[in-house]
Amino acid sequence: MSLLEVDNVTHSYNSKRLLRRKKESEQALTDISFRIEEGTCLGLLGPSGAGKSTLGKVILGLQRPQRGQILFQGHDLYAARIPHKLRRDMQVVFQDSYSAVNPRMTAASIISEPLENYEKLSPAEQYRTVVELLERVGLSETDVKKYPHEFSGGQLQRINIARAIALRPKLIILDEPVSSLDMVNQTLILKLLNELKSEYGLSYLFITHDIKAAFAISDTLGVLEKGKLIELYESKNQFLTSS
Ligand code: ADP
Ligand code: ADP
Repeated sequence: MSLLEVDNVTHSYNSKRLLRRKKESEQALTDISFRIEEGTCLGLLGPSGAGKSTLGKVILGLQRPQRGQILFQGHDLYAARIPHKLRRDMQVVFQDSYSAVNPRMTAASIISEPLENYEKLSPAEQYRTVVELLERVGLSETDVKKYPHEFSGGQLQRINIARAIALRPKLIILDEPVSSLDMVNQTLILKLLNELKSEYGLSYLFITHDIKAAFAISDTLGVLEKGKLIELYESKNQFLTSS
């Protein structure tokens, strides 16, 4: 069983009735199928408007696709009842680290929010976990009380990553996580993501329009264009050698 199975997903932002009459070219996603295995990263590459964010939303359970099925750890994500644990096993990191966080929350409260929602830790345990997470992503205890505007874009993305790994998830959806960062910070964040992946056996869906970033982190690579998966390189070897 794959960690994530996406089977024949088709989505149009218009109603079902309209979808039948609509041309494929007007669909945000057309018949998308792929799998993500445990401990691997699928890079999803495509130009603006290709359907990358729509696919991210569909997989996060935020946008029910009109056709197709998504299985996460064998469970249909859009079934009436899904196990509570599945929610915490899939986390997300977005591109714009500033608008993704509440500007009035401290680093500690941003990171501990998922812990508060899902785990019953004592205040001391929670604080220790937050400090461990900050240190794991290259920040320190002195950062706990700082607000988002006191961090650089790269530091804030580290906080978003700390928050995403706090519940020890199996899959992280990374939606353009380095696209708003300078080259140096892009490299550092990709290195951190690669380390966390091998350390914790994490899986990623890495959504990007940046081919270099995709190559730096992906084990397999898909190319999305106008809502269709036009290429799917099943192994790093395959996409690095094909011309
Ligand atoms: P990408 O993330 O690759 O830039 P999107 O998934 O945002 O692509 O968009 C795919 C297509 O769906 C585009 O044609 C876009 O205009 C359309 N689209 C995206 N979001 C919406 C929405 N909320 N309502 C209607 N159409 C949308
Ligand atoms: P400890 O020394 O306390 O055992 P760990 O190395 O297990 O520390 O964890 C350090 C931090 O990394 C913890 O705050 C924990 O929440 C986080 N962490 C540990 N394992 C995972 C995992 N599988 N996925 C995501 N985060 C993890």
